[in-house]
Amino acid sequence: MTTSHPPAEDRDPASGPEPDLDAEVIVVGAGPTGLMLAGDLAAAGVRTVLVERRPPGLSNLTRAFGVHARTLELLDARGVAEELVATGHTVTGFRPFRWLTVDLSRLRTRFPYLLITPQYEVERVLEQRAREAGADIRYGTEVTELRHDGRGAVAARTADDAELTARYLVGADGARSTVRRALGLPFPGGSVIRSMVLADVRLDEAPEGMLAVNTDGDTIALVLPFGDGWYRVMGWDRAHQPPDDEPVDLEEIRALARRALGTDYGMGEPRWISRFHCDERQVPSYRRGRVFLAGDAAHVHSPAGGMGLNTGIQDAANLSWKLTAALRGRTDDPQVLLDSYQRERYPVGRAVIRSSGAIIRMAMAHTPAQRAARLAVAGVGALPPVTRRAVAQVTGLGIAYPRRSGGHALEGRRIPDLALAEGRLYELLRTGGFVLVTPPHMPPVDHPSVTHAHWRDGPSPRDMELLIRPDGYAAWASEHPDATSLRDAVAWWCGQ
Ligand SMILES: Cc1cc2nc3c(=O)[nH]c(=O)nc-3n(C[C@H](O)[C@H](O)[C@H](O)COP(=O)(O)OP(=O)(O)OC[C@H]3O[C@@H](n4cnc5c(N)ncnc54)[C@H](O)[C@@H]3O)c2cc1C
Repeated sequence: MTTSHPPAEDRDPASGPEPDLDAEVIVVGAGPTGLMLAGDLAAAGVRTVLVERRPPGLSNLTRAFGVHARTLELLDARGVAEELVATGHTVTGFRPFRWLTVDLSRLRTRFPYLLITPQYEVERVLEQRAREAGADIRYGTEVTELRHDGRGAVAARTADDAELTARYLVGADGARSTVRRALGLPFPGGSVIRSMVLADVRLDEAPEGMLAVNTDGDTIALVLPFGDGWYRVMGWDRAHQPPDDEPVDLEEIRALARRALGTDYGMGEPRWISRFHCDERQVPSYRRGRVFLAGDAAHVHSPAGGMGLNTGIQDAANLSWKLTAALRGRTDDPQVLLDSYQRERYPVGRAVIRSSGAIIRMAMAHTPAQRAARLAVAGVGALPPVTRRAVAQVTGLGIAYPRRSGGHALEGRRIPDLALAEGRLYELLRTGGFVLVTPPHMPPVDHPSVTHAHWRDGPSPRDMELLIRPDGYAAWASEHPDATSLRDAVAWWCGQ
């Protein structure tokens, strides 16, 4: 592969569709991140081409199996959460360690649980949505190289020697990202755990409860149901760590389960079996000019905590409306808005790597002193407030973005589903635009990117204006309703 660096930052010559380019945005990689992004862009009317090197009909192997509450909220804002929830099982509590029970049932969300469903179901739902929205999805198309097009655009060369041009390109092409390499960006980090084994099997006897987990420091074992008769078994054995390329057979996994869990549940022949290691890495820059990185292309970590797919989908939800706003001129300053993707999502990636690393290292710690030290370093522990913070981090509900200096305390914070006079907030967000909530007496705001809603009448109606971003975070809030500051805030965030 030859690489040449794509364009440095340049301005869009005009907003609106560019007929001479193949697309407004090219998304590389039809994993969960790329599918979410392409669906959002297409739903907003952005001409989007999604290229995927896999041939049509060949699904990704199901690596992920857990979808967290914040991701489900974002899918709710796209009208597809219920369909996905129907494909799996919900888990409201589990014990990752003998001394720690995590209770999700009291989380303040419409989805107070972990949804167990195969990654291919997430991809199926997102792909259907992207197709219906009009995304042009091209399987069997591998991007090999990027170059500056010279017209304020980026060009992607494909393995069959064709070229695709667009205003922006997003690399959602996974951990070995070609786009990241074409940008010349490093992917610093290292290995956190070696020789993990995995098998998808049928069992003669189902584990009690939804999950069987054991982490005693010498072994790690986890068994959980996909809900369709297949179970995912994952494990690690301190005493047996051959290299990744050494074949793994079912007897090794059975023996590990018997040691760690006291039984192998009568495992039958696997449909997938694998040995792998996990790296912790993050690209220093999520944006270079017109090219962005999202999902595993930008950050990788161990499966502990089940946050990879979730973080990728949330990267996509953060980036999609910013690209749309920049392309349509619906923001006061497109470059500031596009740069905010790095400012907001890089620290989230960092925190995810840290918390996932803390969980896996704690599972591997085998002396009481190591465990105590890791608890202290990780800030993850058995004390309720600390556990609550860890749960907020892992479920994604606690993620917040930096607010402007002097901004209202709500700015940058996740806004939960609200019952408004016009309906549920996450239903109103399905337009893909902002939602403005005001007291009833405020004059109507007429802006193509804004749905104006009102607090519900009640014994104490709220005297607050709240502008909510398309990804469900507060953009701006004020306790002193005033038409001028409201107009200024809408103009800054959504353009004149
Ligand atoms: C064992 C295991 C268990 C896991 N469990 C969980 C879990 O429970 N929850 C969770 O959130 N995460 C989990 N993860 C992580 C999760 O699977 C990944 O984070 C997720 O798949 C990342 O999605 P993505 O779309 O960013 O990248 P990917 O899923 O890797 O998709 C990238 C796509 O890009 C395509 N592609 C690559 N290069 C090119 C190219 N040059 N041109 C065109 N297309 C290209 C690939 O074919 C692929 O389809 C787990 C991972 C493992 C290994």
